[in-house]
Amino acid sequence: MRQFKTESKKLLDLMINSIYTNKEIFLRELISNASDAVDKLNFKSLQDPSVKLDQGDLAIRVSFDKDARTITISDNGIGMTAEELERNLGTIAHSGSEEFKTENAEQQGSDVDIIGQFGVGFYSAFMVASHVKVVSRAYGEDTAHVWESDGLEGYTIEDGERAEHGTDVILTLRENEKLDADGEAETYDRFLTEWGLKSLIQQYSNYVRYPIQMMVSKSRQKPKPEDAPDDYKPEYEDYQELETINSMTPIWKKRSSDVEQKDYNEFYKSTFHDFDEPARTISFHAEGTLEYDALLFVPGRAPFDLYSKDYEKGLALYSSNVLIMEKCDDLLPDYYNFVRGVVDSADVTLNISRETLQQNRQLKAIAKRVEKKITADLEDMRDNDREAYEKFFENFGRGLKYGIYSSYGMKADELADLLLFWSAKEQKMITLAEYAKACPRARRQSTMPPAIRASVWPRCPS
Ligand code: ADP
Repeated sequence: MRQFKTESKKLLDLMINSIYTNKEIFLRELISNASDAVDKLNFKSLQDPSVKLDQGDLAIRVSFDKDARTITISDNGIGMTAEELERNLGTIAHSGSEEFKTENAEQQGSDVDIIGQFGVGFYSAFMVASHVKVVSRAYGEDTAHVWESDGLEGYTIEDGERAEHGTDVILTLRENEKLDADGEAETYDRFLTEWGLKSLIQQYSNYVRYPIQMMVSKSRQKPKPEDAPDDYKPEYEDYQELETINSMTPIWKKRSSDVEQKDYNEFYKSTFHDFDEPARTISFHAEGTLEYDALLFVPGRAPFDLYSKDYEKGLALYSSNVLIMEKCDDLLPDYYNFVRGVVDSADVTLNISRETLQQNRQLKAIAKRVEKKITADLEDMRDNDREAYEKFFENFGRGLKYGIYSSYGMKADELADLLLFWSAKEQKMITLAEYAKACPRARRQSTMPPAIRASVWPRCPS
């Protein structure tokens, strides 16, 4: 048996035993992984003509066996080789254990969802499962491999069989817990029902772009026998049918007037792994030489790693429903690095490598518009919802200030009025413009150093 790295062991233990009250998100995480795997294969097929795919076949399947207490999540995506199983599932991808522990200490008890911020989504399986088996066959390989673990000490990887490329994640659910002193107990059985799984899929994975299919029980009227007596009563029979559970339509393609804020919030939370609702939602559709949809969110709180070097900014870039880049950093200026969202444009040239994308003029045009929209939205929040803006500024103001330095003042005009400063006189946060408005009096009373005075004076009304 191979051992998990020590860090992983501790992290697993924390995850499984301490912090999550919201165990049900395991399904969302595994479905996201399955969808990513299908995306990767789909993308490969666009770049490499030798990869033949029938788009209509790409799907994720969820099934369960009540007696065996198993839930299986299957995809026909890119799959994993034995090395990839080892690399991806044997170590925790992102080393954020220090932050993880601090966060955990602070937020224990509150229903905080940290999964996804650490690249540990897969391990959420162990919150509900006592045993996890992954059968995977990488695209283009003849053999499959089986990774198995009970989540405590380590895992094994052995040769196995799978009819085609893709991955099955098979969870053996834990036994229901006994009632504790408060009369509460975790019942894992709730996941072993058609309704339970279906509602979780719809709640968390509704916008996954591939069909998430499940066998569902249905009832139908039996055909009336020819020799049916006069008083024949219709008879019904149960049968099973494969059904697509998620709605799939990407929410960013819908007109914002047709979408309720709660749906945007749900999309945001499930896509960007944030437990909090977004502070702002910006949705727009651009037409003209370049056509695209954009759906942007300003998070309600700063991600824990925002100011660390590991933080990657960027918007997800889709083209005709195909993921081109998960985090296209060229779409966002550094000072708006906290914005999350999606840009989808059929006009962005496909089959492009990262390098060519960076020089892509289309992309620059989109980025410019995105930036303008964000600025306008922040200005709107500043002017019309000051309380929310103050909270926003507390979270992200540092980045805006830095934007002025790092652009050597080029962005000063755009960003300066988004900054807030503490006014000792007014005992609240105010903008530079508000300060300048009160200038005539300030000028008389000012004890400001001349250099600062000079920079503020031009803004003073004469
Ligand atoms: P994250 O998805 O945040 O990177 P996870 O712990 O969920 O972190 O997964 C680790 C890695 O394992 C993924 O990045 C991916 O490479 C691989 N992986 C997980 N599930 C699958 C799957 N169903 N098919 C192919 N690869 C997968």
